Amino acid sequence: MTFSDLGLHADLLRAVEAQGYSIPTPIQQQAIPAVLSGRDLLASAQTGTGKTAGFTLPMLQRLSQGKRPGKRQVKALVLTPTRELAAQVGESVATYGVHLPLRSHVIFGGVGQQPQVDALKPGLDILVATPGRLLDLHQQRHVDLSAVEILVLDEADRMLDMGFIHDIKRILKVLPPKRQNLLFSATFSNEIQTLATNLLDNPAFIEV
Ligand code: AMP
Repeated sequence: MTFSDLGLHADLLRAVEAQGYSIPTPIQQQAIPAVLSGRDLLASAQTGTGKTAGFTLPMLQRLSQGKRPGKRQVKALVLTPTRELAAQVGESVATYGVHLPLRSHVIFGGVGQQPQVDALKPGLDILVATPGRLLDLHQQRHVDLSAVEILVLDEADRMLDMGFIHDIKRILKVLPPKRQNLLFSATFSNEIQTLATNLLDNPAFIEV
């Protein structure tokens, strides 16, 4: 099994090869075709399984296939519990998307807001964010989430543990209802199952 067997395009294969990956990990083997097909996804995966490339690669492919409207709007939103994870996911998006004409940015709390506001101004295709800062910037109308087509909740269990459920619910309310949702979690508490039931439509289920 290779990355090209999974249906990824040449621009992404080149970026993957440059990382020195030759064999997709088990979660990548399952997640990449499912996400490319447009389905919602519920994935049980720990850090270190290659889950980030598992959602980033097919997300980039779907966005690069879309129509190119004149205005750049956030079409993919990735929520993470911590600034470290947000930065890491943002790096992966930049690394795997290096040959694609997509703009991405990372925003998180605990640092000054103005550089993030400036970075959002020209418009973005992909936004990686922690929930609290995203809501702050959205309330101040610095972020437009009305064109989101793909939502990823990464390490959803940690986001709930950290008390982000209300922020997440408020973010969900401002997203377009018709979108692809991907939920990654290491554990499956009742709370996560409730979130999954409310959020996901006939999801593919992956456990690694
Ligand atoms: P993650 O679970 O997404 O945090 O990824 C864990 C680590 O595995 C990261 O350092 C990736 O660069 C690396 N990685 C991801 N996919 C592969 C792959 N198919 N082959 C080798 N390493 C990989």
